[in-house]
Amino acid sequence: MAEADKAVRLTWDELRALPEYSCSLPSGTYVGKRWKRNINAYARPHADDCTAPHEKTTRGIVCPCIQAFSNRCPQCKAVAKNLKPNWWLGEYVDDADPKQIGIVWKRILVRPPRS
Ligand SMILES: [Zn+2]
Ligand SMILES: [Zn+2]
Repeated sequence: MAEADKAVRLTWDELRALPEYSCSLPSGTYVGKRWKRNINAYARPHADDCTAPHEKTTRGIVCPCIQAFSNRCPQCKAVAKNLKPNWWLGEYVDDADPKQIGIVWKRILVRPPRS
């Protein structure tokens, strides 16, 4: 997908105005519809001081914090909470097949606010 490495510059206000769909896709698909996704919303970072029991396997260390999103230890939760949002812009576009709709993703670069 050639468009995948394109980025788009938005102001904070433009970013704020976009509807957020971080774990789903918006319904009401029409060409030109745009939304934002924070790909860090469901990231699974691992804390250096993780307190969950680690299991050593032949494939390395297995940590329940990475395997199960919902029962992370407090340390891993804190690391996840401190992750900076990583915003992407989704847009429905025409597809070669007229019965389908395409999606183009662009990385959002937020312009620093003027002071
Ligand atoms: Zn942990
Ligand atoms: Zn761990």
